[in-house]
Order: sequence, then C-alpha cells, then structure tokens
Amino acid sequence: MSTAPTLSIEVLFGQEGPLARALPGFEARPGQVQMSKLIERGFLEGAHTIVEAGTGVGKSLAYLVPALRSGKKVVVSTATIALQEQLVRKDIPLVVRALGIPARIELLKGRSHYLCRAKLDRMRAERLIASSATMEAAWEWADRTQTGDRAELRSPLPALEWEALDADADDCVGEFCDKFKDCHFFKRRDAARYADIVVVNHALFFLDLALGGTLLPPYDYAILDEAHQCEQWASAALTATLSPYSVARVMRRLHRDYHVPAALDDELDSSMRGLAQALARVPWGGSGGQAAPTLQGGSGGQAAPTLQGGSGGQAAPTLQRYPLSANEAAREALGGVQAAFYRIENWLYGNWQAALKRPPENVAEAERRRDLAMRGVLAHVATIERTELPQEDAINWVERSDASGRYEVNSAPFDVAEYLRSALFARTQSVVLTSATIATGNSFDFLRRALGVDEAQEYVAPSPFDYRAQARLFVAPPHCNPKDPQFARAVAPLIEEILDITSGRAFVLFTSYARLHEVYAAVRERVAYPVKLQGEMPRAHLLDWFRSTNNAVLFATSTFWEGIDVVGSALSCVIVDRLPFPSPSDPIVAARLAAIEAAGRQSFDEYMIPSAIVRLKQGFGRLIRSKTDKGVIVLLDGRAASMRYGATIVASLPPAKRANTTDELRKFFLT
Ligand code: SF4
Repeated sequence: MSTAPTLSIEVLFGQEGPLARALPGFEARPGQVQMSKLIERGFLEGAHTIVEAGTGVGKSLAYLVPALRSGKKVVVSTATIALQEQLVRKDIPLVVRALGIPARIELLKGRSHYLCRAKLDRMRAERLIASSATMEAAWEWADRTQTGDRAELRSPLPALEWEALDADADDCVGEFCDKFKDCHFFKRRDAARYADIVVVNHALFFLDLALGGTLLPPYDYAILDEAHQCEQWASAALTATLSPYSVARVMRRLHRDYHVPAALDDELDSSMRGLAQALARVPWGGSGGQAAPTLQGGSGGQAAPTLQGGSGGQAAPTLQRYPLSANEAAREALGGVQAAFYRIENWLYGNWQAALKRPPENVAEAERRRDLAMRGVLAHVATIERTELPQEDAINWVERSDASGRYEVNSAPFDVAEYLRSALFARTQSVVLTSATIATGNSFDFLRRALGVDEAQEYVAPSPFDYRAQARLFVAPPHCNPKDPQFARAVAPLIEEILDITSGRAFVLFTSYARLHEVYAAVRERVAYPVKLQGEMPRAHLLDWFRSTNNAVLFATSTFWEGIDVVGSALSCVIVDRLPFPSPSDPIVAARLAAIEAAGRQSFDEYMIPSAIVRLKQGFGRLIRSKTDKGVIVLLDGRAASMRYGATIVASLPPAKRANTTDELRKFFLT
C-alpha cells in the first residue's frame, strides 16, 4: 500500500482530479474536501476528529481517501448493513481505482454470521436427513459456499436452526477442531489481519472493545460512521442480559456435550418460572411512573439495539421496560436462578470428564469443552451479581413483552462514556466520528459527553442542498398539543389535508402505538391514496411496497425512519406527531437524566433537547437526498411553535423555509 501521498487532497477531489476521472458526474464539494483534509491531519497528528456531514456531502469518500493514503491499518465501522455494502462494493473499490493504491479490504462480521464446519459434520453424522426444508437447503449451501457467510442463504434459517450451525465462540474448540484449517470464520479473521482496511459493524466493533480486542486485529485508526448510534451500540456491547432465551442457549450447549442430570434442569426450570412470575407481578405504571410502554424508549435513538433485535426492527407494541429495583420480588427470584447456576457450576467441575457424551481427542480438548460450557454458566452468575450493584455503577432494568411473554433482565454500566474514554479514545491514535446527524446547532457537546471524547477537531460540513428552496417545515397550530386527549381528533383533518397536498408519498410517524392506531383508524378511510400500517407486513416488505407503489402513505412508529433509504419523489413528506424527546420513564434515559441533574446541570437542555434535534434531523436526511428532491416536514406538535424549547429545536434543523399555512404548502408543491 502506498504510504506517500503525492497529490494534495484538493487536487484529488478537484474537477480534473483522479476521483473525477474515475466517477462520471463527480462534483467537487467544498465540505467534502475540508472534511477529508481534517481527517488526514488528524491521522498525521494523532488527533480525534468529529464531522457532521449531511446527505450529499459525500462523507464516505472524504474519509476513505485519507484512510487509504495513510498506509496504516484502519477499521471502518457502520451501524447499518446497507452502508457496509455500499462501502465494500462501491466506494472503496472506486477510491482504490482512482488513487491507484493496491489496498487489501476485508469485510468482517461477527462469529455467529459464519457456518461452523465442525457442527455441520456432527449434525450430519447424527442424522441422515435434514430436520427441515430450510436445513436441507442450508446443508446444500454448506457444500458450495466459499465464505460460509449466512447472508448467502436464499431462505434464512430460523434462529434456533442457525444456532445449531453457527461459529459462535462458545461452541468452538479452536485449534483442537479438526476443521480449524478450513474454518470459515478463522479464514476471514486471518485475512482481516493482513488487510489495510477492515469494514465491520458497530456491534462487532464495540463487542471487540468490551472483550479487550480479541475479535478484531490491532488497528491504528478507527472511523465510526453513523456515529449517532455509537452510544447505544457501545451500551449494548457492555450490557449483560439474562433471559429464557439466553438460559436455554447455555443449557442446549451443555446438553450437546454432557449427560446432565435431570435434577439440575428441573431446578433451573423451576427458578426461571419463579422469575417469570415475579417479573409479571409488577403493575405497569405502578412505580412512580417508571414503568411505561417504551416505544419512546427508543425514540431518542438511545434504546439498546436489543430492543429492535427480535422482530426485524419492528418493536413489539407491548414491549415495556422498567427498573429492576421497582420489583421487590425479582431480587429473591434472581437469587433462585443464581443458586441453580451455582449447582450446575459445581456439578460441571466434578464431572467434566466422566459426563462427556463424545470422547475427546485428549485432555486438553476435554478441558476446552469444560471451559466453554462453564463460560455460559459463569456469565449468567456474573449478570445476576451485576444486578446487585448500586445505581451509581449499573443501570438494571427489566424488558418485557406481554404479547410474546418474552422477558429479559439487563444490566448496563452506568457510564459508557468513561469506559470509551479509556478503552477507545485513549488507546487509539485517531478516531473519526461522523454522521449526518451528530451536531446540535454547531456544537458536538452532546456527542462528546455521551461518548467520552475530551479533545477532537470538529467540523460541520455545509450541505450541498438548498434547503430553503427544496424543503418546507410546517408546524401545526398551538392548540395541537400531544398531551391533550383530543389530539388525534385535532390533527386528523390536518393530516388528510396535507396528504392531499403532497399526493400521498408520505410517512406519518408516531411516538406511541396507541396514538398511531387511533389516528390511523380516524383517517384511513378518508385518504385517497394507498395506505399501510406498520405491522401489516415485515419492515423490509413494507419498504418495498412503499417504494414500488405510487403515492403510497405509510403510518408507522417514529423508529421507522432510522436507516431507511427511499430515493426520489416517492417520499416527499414526513409527518411527525410530536417532538421526539426520549421517554424519561425509560430506565436508561432516567439514569442519564438523574446523573446530569446530580451534577447540578439541566437535564432537559443537555439531554432531551439534543436528542430530539438529532432525531428530527434524521427525518430531513431521509427526505432530501439529491439536489432535485423536494419535500416537507410536518410537526403535528404545536409546542414546536409555542414553547421556548420548540424554537430551540426548530432553529437547529436544516434551514428549510417555514410554511405558515397549508396554502403555502400547496403552492410549494405546485411550483
Ligand atoms: S474452528 Fe471453531 S468455528 Fe471453526 S469449524 Fe472448528 S469449531 Fe467450528
């Protein structure tokens, strides 16, 4: 890889430069050039860099150019698969071609994305035919695949079936495995070791940090794109979880290798039933307003990713979160689970050789199997111990869905920022944080405090879009107050009128499921365009439907616009029911607010307002994606106009012209 930059960044990005030659239609953008120069300086001087670069700035090229010219090992991490694929398939090959730099690039996923050949062999040895049609297809694929990446599977396996085949660390005996040399995961990890640029997702990046750097090869610089999601992914990586699913997984693994006495299973089952009963006894909303339905728990973009994990990004309508401390019975029930795990731990120590189902090659392999089995057991014991930590050290909460009966006990460290300060920013020469939505006004204080960044170069790249000409912001009259029980009735006619003006082509987004259904029921029959409601089909199908249907209208929750990409006029209007403050009843949000107040500062100004700004800015990012797009953001929350904080939030949004009447909106769409 070339290490001697010979051309200046200006020349590289210039109209006659190599990027323009490699990319037809390339236009030099001042914000992009400035961003690239700043990042390169950060690399050279060992400084961290924070850049907000909205849609159209071309931020990926701005960081890839200095990354590829640096001659150092760079990890690029993103929140979404869509961006990873764009980087690996399009942007990186383009920059490599343009710069003439022979770089090695690797996309590395978490272990559970890859097929474990040893598990496959065992499964095939145990049964002659596959247990299901999807498993049969997976077996066929396994014989053909070069990568072992489950993303290649045409029909994805159900989670439990894939778990029986995945390369998860807890099932892997490493060098003792006779497939070690051909192992898909280890091959990719070795390739990453020799790569110049390794592309990963935030889940893997922060898990690697949490595990002390055991998953990724050592790197010099880290570029974290979609950095507005870093806090939640870091928090998720550091969160310990106990759930029926996690417990069942540990026990399945134990049973795979050992003859486990039934009495141990019975004791654990009984203690888990006790825990489920204890957690179900908490009256929602009965603990000083702490236990609330938590759609909004995620609405500030602050919810742990696990919230969205179970249902392909569609949060269950009845998902609730409440502090563990609100449930006195839970402590005793958790003690029962802990005792059952202690019993399993003791049994395993005494029987790790005698109870093995398959004879090991040697004692070392038997020890490795014992350690793997023990790891899951001890992790659950440790989780329960963490839930006993005082509030200043850990945020402990219960997450529960009435509909599915699913529940989890979670424990997150109180201060993610402190952890990242020492584990990431103090140890990495240069970290780049970038996103379309990380500044509030021109300040990065919100992000810096959340992530523990003490010193960094900062830059807000100007947008190449003319928001004043391309976008309008419409705020409902002051009497439309989401706290008013009559809110749905007040806004329904307004929604109808606006959808008429925009000819559909709209997302209508809500911060509560109840409100979503109430308004949908009120306007569904009165809208003259194709309408769908979130939940009618899986999220990806809904988006396909929206993209392929003329004048479509989608009623959904406010979490829906995260990571979506609808290009062109199909999405010309985003209607939001209220200013998207995080829910103060969410345990994590409540803990953050309490910490700010305890330090003598204003939590509303410091946390709630910036959270709402970041969320609303994402809406603009979805709406205007090219110089020819035009669209309107509608805030149905009249407080955006009547309250001081509303004015602060609106002032931080992209400078769309305000439309004061629906007539002005009509004119905007007619011209
Ligand atoms: S090395 Fe580990 S992950 Fe790879 S095939 Fe063997 S057991 Fe599976």
